[in-house]
Amino acid sequence: MNAPIKKYDFLIVGSGLFGAVFAQQAVERGKSCLVIDKRSHIGGNIYCEEIENIQVHRYGAHIFHTNDDEVWNYLNRFVHFNRYTNSPLASYHGELYNLPFNMNTFRQLWGVTTPQEAANKIAEQCKPYEGQTPTNLEEQALQLVGHDIYEKLIKGYTEKQWGRKATELPSFIIKRLPLRFVYDNNYFNDAYQGIPIEGYNTLITKLLKNCDIQLGVDFLEHRELAQTAHTVVYTGMLDAYFDYRFGHLAYRSLAFETKVLDTANFQGNTVVNYTAAEVPYTRIIEHKHFVGGQQPKTVITYEYPQEWNSAKEAYYPINDTKNEALATHYRQLAQAEPNVIFGGRLADYRYYDMDKVVRSAIDTARHTLDKH
Ligand code: FAD
Ligand code: UDP
Repeated sequence: MNAPIKKYDFLIVGSGLFGAVFAQQAVERGKSCLVIDKRSHIGGNIYCEEIENIQVHRYGAHIFHTNDDEVWNYLNRFVHFNRYTNSPLASYHGELYNLPFNMNTFRQLWGVTTPQEAANKIAEQCKPYEGQTPTNLEEQALQLVGHDIYEKLIKGYTEKQWGRKATELPSFIIKRLPLRFVYDNNYFNDAYQGIPIEGYNTLITKLLKNCDIQLGVDFLEHRELAQTAHTVVYTGMLDAYFDYRFGHLAYRSLAFETKVLDTANFQGNTVVNYTAAEVPYTRIIEHKHFVGGQQPKTVITYEYPQEWNSAKEAYYPINDTKNEALATHYRQLAQAEPNVIFGGRLADYRYYDMDKVVRSAIDTARHTLDKH
């Protein structure tokens, strides 16, 4: 029997940021790509849907931020970024607090106005927990920020987000929330931050220019497509590729409820977190504020964290010891799989921010194409 004709250099499974950046890098080096996606649109989780002339982040709020000069310069070849600065608010029983925890938050909580007063207050709050070795998230948080911040701003949000008691969660999750003794509500410390002025969809469309694209095609149901290319770049779920042979990797999922409101400005901020346990959603996003939209109506999205099952979208990998061990087994299989490159958030089973995905796709492309 004759070998099948390889029409493309690469079959790219998934048109999210990883697949799109890899495809752009391949085409730039004269390679041909077929990009497939099981969804009806390109872009993966950064896809935006236009409603009432507003770009709605369909799979959750996406704010680009990075310290990586090369990644920043690379993306600026395709789109320009605005000066959006993420400064979420937290709402707790009708009280509003600035995030991340900074002098504004401390003033709102305790009426303190100087860094010394704030540091004294936090030291007093943390004193009961001094010297203990934290064994879970609750103990870690109490030791870092004390009772008031933990009860009002962390406990309810975290337990909703992860669907488990804070006493059953690993402490490392909370190490991501720094204390800042300046009046600065910028959530990120990175040098660069913003939203593409032309939109995330334009970014993906430009990256995929000169690729063939097929939508609504699930690779796992059409594995024969691998025959059309020399190499497969797979960005879907790692365990699914191997038919779950060692068992399922766990995720957290989200449900989004989007509403159009007949008002120009609903909450005066893009992101408001709801930190009380009895409010079922974790946050409300008002999409127009990402870009200073002046439309007469507004679109908001409520975000409800959910248990994941295979009928739902897999959003957050659960990087606990058990799942990491399972992922390691799958990664070993992936490394041994001939002519397949695994990449991106789902295939690596890692919670990557967008800049890390772009960095990883650029590096993978370099590594592959410069020897291809
Ligand atoms: P994805 O975007 O998931 O793309 C994978 C694509 O592969 C999808 O389109 C999928 O349909 C397709 N696919 C999967 N399996 C198959 C198959 N079998 N056959 C065909 N196609 C398949 N990052 C930030 O930097 N800032 C943020 O503010 C931010 N907010 C986030 C908020 C939420 C709620 C979530 C979930 C993520 C957020 N991220 C954020 C992370 C960001 O979404 C990711 O880094 C990035 O989108 C991952 O790109 P990817 O290509 O790896 O994966
Ligand atoms: N968190 C919290 N209160 C908030 C926001 C975040 O307690 O108002 C905690 C929560 O445990 C969350 C973690 O901080 O899982 C990280 O939050 P971040 O928004 O930085 O992460 P992401 O949602 O992007 O993973």
